[in-house]
Amino acid sequence: MSRVAVVTGGIGGLGTAMCKALAEQGRQPVAVDYNGLKPEVVEKWKADRAAEGLNIPVYLADVTDFASCAETCKKIEAEVGPIEILVNNAGITRDAMFHKMSPEQWDQVIKTNLYSVFNMTKQVYEGMTARGWGRIVNISSVNGLKGQAGQTNYSATKAAIYGFNKALSQECIKKGVTVNSISPGYIGTDMVRAIREDVLQKIIGTIPAGRLGEPSEIARTVAFLVAEDAGFITGEDITVNGGIYFH
Ligand code: NAD
Repeated sequence: MSRVAVVTGGIGGLGTAMCKALAEQGRQPVAVDYNGLKPEVVEKWKADRAAEGLNIPVYLADVTDFASCAETCKKIEAEVGPIEILVNNAGITRDAMFHKMSPEQWDQVIKTNLYSVFNMTKQVYEGMTARGWGRIVNISSVNGLKGQAGQTNYSATKAAIYGFNKALSQECIKKGVTVNSISPGYIGTDMVRAIREDVLQKIIGTIPAGRLGEPSEIARTVAFLVAEDAGFITGEDITVNGGIYFH
């Protein structure tokens, strides 16, 4: 069924794979990405998708800003259709050991990774519950589960997603709306592959699977959670991490 599926951070490493997997599932993906991006970056992304036979609209917003999310979601609903699937995927890191972490590093990560979940979910929640069908997937991280030195800000936001999901899922499951998360381990996006080779090999050495994950492996988990027959799964987290950490 062709339902409008918004992916925040939709033109990033994992977001792109998610948009493709959703299109393959028959959804109408819509990428929402940062309004500070250079227009040529967005145009290249759209051209790359068009070359793959995919027509995926891109809307620009700042997910840290409630008003920007409201305006963008309103536009998407008017121009594409009601948003029935939301993947809160936009996220950043600003790593530092706690004794060196600045209030700005703390704020940027909390606002981008956590306020965004509220800011975007608020725009679509009423519509989903009123229509009696909706899927919300929040992208967490293995570092939200296990914690990571140098990432108190990031780990805090990713762990917060589990609490948000468990609470909201109880409010809306009767209305046909599910709220789940995915906690990826190390995935071979450009960013991760750009890590210095010796450091990357060390990281890979800690992964029982002996390799990085593929963006498509996260994307197919998104498709699984938003499927028509996934309506009995809610408040849950799926780790996709090659065995590096278990719930
Ligand atoms: P990425 O940097 O490739 O993509 C993130 C996207 O979010 C970018 O396109 C960026 O423009 C967008 N974004 C950032 N700030 C924004 C804002 N204020 N408003 C709107 N858009 C904004 O990163 P990625 O690796 O694709 O990560 C996607 C998600 O997966 C993140 O939440 C990340 O924490 C999580 N994650 C990634 C990995 C990994 O190994 N890549 C592992 C665990 C979790």
